[in-house]
Amino acid sequence: MERSVAELESIVRNRICRVCTERTADGECGMEKPSDCALFRLFPDVARAIQMVQSDDIQQYIDAIRQSVCSQCADQASDGTCETRRQVQCALDAYLLLIVDAIEEATGKSFDRKPLFGAGFHAGRRVEICL
Ligand code: SF4
Ligand code: SF4
Repeated sequence: MERSVAELESIVRNRICRVCTERTADGECGMEKPSDCALFRLFPDVARAIQMVQSDDIQQYIDAIRQSVCSQCADQASDGTCETRRQVQCALDAYLLLIVDAIEEATGKSFDRKPLFGAGFHAGRRVEICL
């Protein structure tokens, strides 16, 4: 199923911001600058990278994100490391499983990744993930 980038962004926002540890009690993004969230700052590239992969192996999605998104993110150091990622402060990295699932569900793909789900970590805190 074809979806526009805007549609996919709306679906992912609905799915991810809802469980994100940065979200405040009144439903807003609690980041000092919400526009800094790498997931949505680079969303067109995120959506493209995920749609290029067809696999049950999450590592292939991680590789695609590193190659197509992290490579152009200002937070990545020249040696490929990322302090934001290391501190579990990047929503794209922390919630990648959920993001992949949301995009593939919205575009009509479905893989059985349930054994991989259950919990994630963001901003140093454990997050329970319910599909
Ligand atoms: S950090 Fe990103 S994913 Fe989390 S609530 Fe803010 S915009 Fe949503
Ligand atoms: S993991 Fe780091 S380099 Fe990759 S998108 Fe997130 S903040 Fe940017």
